[in-house]
Amino acid sequence: MALQNKYLADLLETVKKRNPGEPEFIQAVTEVFTSLEPVAEKRPDLVEAGVFERIVEPERQIIFRVPWVDDNGVQRVNRGFRIEFNSAIGPYKGGLRLHPSVYLGIIKFLGFEQIFKNSLTTLPMGGGKGGSDFDPKGKSDGEVMRFCQSFMTELSKHIGPNTDVPAGDIGTGAREIGYMFGQYKRLRNEFTGVLTGKGLTFGGSLARTEATGFGVCYFTEEMLKANGKSFKGQTVVISGSGNVAIYATQKATELGAKVVTMSDSNGFIYDENGIDLAAVKQIKEVERKRIKEYLNYHPEAVYTEGCSNIWNTPCDIALPCATQNEIDGESAKKLAANGCYCVSEGANMPSTPEAIDVYFENKMLYGPAKAVNAGGVAVSGLEMSQNSERLSWTFEDVDSRLKNIMVNIFKSCDEASKEYGLEGNYMAGANIAGFLKVAEAMKAQGCV
Ligand code: NDP
Repeated sequence: MALQNKYLADLLETVKKRNPGEPEFIQAVTEVFTSLEPVAEKRPDLVEAGVFERIVEPERQIIFRVPWVDDNGVQRVNRGFRIEFNSAIGPYKGGLRLHPSVYLGIIKFLGFEQIFKNSLTTLPMGGGKGGSDFDPKGKSDGEVMRFCQSFMTELSKHIGPNTDVPAGDIGTGAREIGYMFGQYKRLRNEFTGVLTGKGLTFGGSLARTEATGFGVCYFTEEMLKANGKSFKGQTVVISGSGNVAIYATQKATELGAKVVTMSDSNGFIYDENGIDLAAVKQIKEVERKRIKEYLNYHPEAVYTEGCSNIWNTPCDIALPCATQNEIDGESAKKLAANGCYCVSEGANMPSTPEAIDVYFENKMLYGPAKAVNAGGVAVSGLEMSQNSERLSWTFEDVDSRLKNIMVNIFKSCDEASKEYGLEGNYMAGANIAGFLKVAEAMKAQGCV
């Protein structure tokens, strides 16, 4: 749908011209601007302060060479990125993605989304994102370590506990964060909380591993409750089998749902008895193998090659937890036709604009990523607090703070949607609530 507000429509054209060949970034800006039309009308002071122009331009974009040597002694080169997008409300904060599809446009879309997500958590964190086109899959631990050390050798010049605090994302788990932290410490001779998602023996927070997936379910449960429903007895389709998918599956099951699918980039499994998460954890977290191996544990389950047919599975609730644009318009129509009434996004921007249109046309409950998956960065913020205090809180303490934050994020989205006459549109609510806090700070700090 074209933007009605002329100021935002013109600005979007400028953004398109300035960022050619970056469709994911343009998609993210378009979605946010669509939600912000009523704000631009109601708040001319923010237009006058140039907040909209400034918020779509990263404060700093760093692109660098990452040379490393593989196990055969061959020199390899990857490209590294860090986008320091917005520091109006705190140090830049956001994950590092290691995946062959990574290029500037992916990191910019993720960094842009991160600004609003971090604002929604109510913690003092600005927005940033980084990564590399390095693929950790199929590499030895030694290769991953040499890559991470080389990556951090350059990145360390740009980050710090009060400047920019990276974390994990696709392809960056506890192993990669450990190698990067070790290299930062060696280079700077400082033991600081410069990365989150650290191991528990060197400053990591309990419940950080579980945080994004658990948070997805806490937000979704709250959204369901506000609409007279709950996870209890519901059939849930989950995509992905990484960090977010695994812990979303765990919490949805604890809340009384039956999760029947999980996937990786090769295909998906369907288990009508409900996913055996212990088997998935063994395959993915311990052995680092493909989801197809699930059949060795449960031969009665069904494996299907390819990812998109996962959305043909009849369900009540869908939690996409793999990657961007994994649900297109056609997949969304299949979900709706098979009785799915709720889509809540664990991955970042997993729904195309056409899919989102289908959700609204079918009056489905739609939880947008920047609100639903904010639990990971929220607990990263709590890890930063624990590092500053040099204390470690208990699992129960962190988990209950996480739950509280997710309940409040839902409340903010709901209230903002109502205030702007868009009740039930939690996408607009999340964009508006996330934007307003950052916008006020940017206005107060002047033209910087
Ligand atoms: P992981 O690397 O742990 O897992 C990613 C999962 O998604 C894997 O199963 C992977 O399969 C699958 N996947 C990745 N790329 C594709 C693709 N192009 N097509 C199909 N499947 C794919 O990552 P996370 O679980 O950490 O991240 C998942 C999503 O959640 C991402 O969008 C991320 O940005 C978002 N997110 C993560 C947070 C966190 O705390 N980790 C916080 C907030 C959001 P395969 O192994 O075959 O590649």
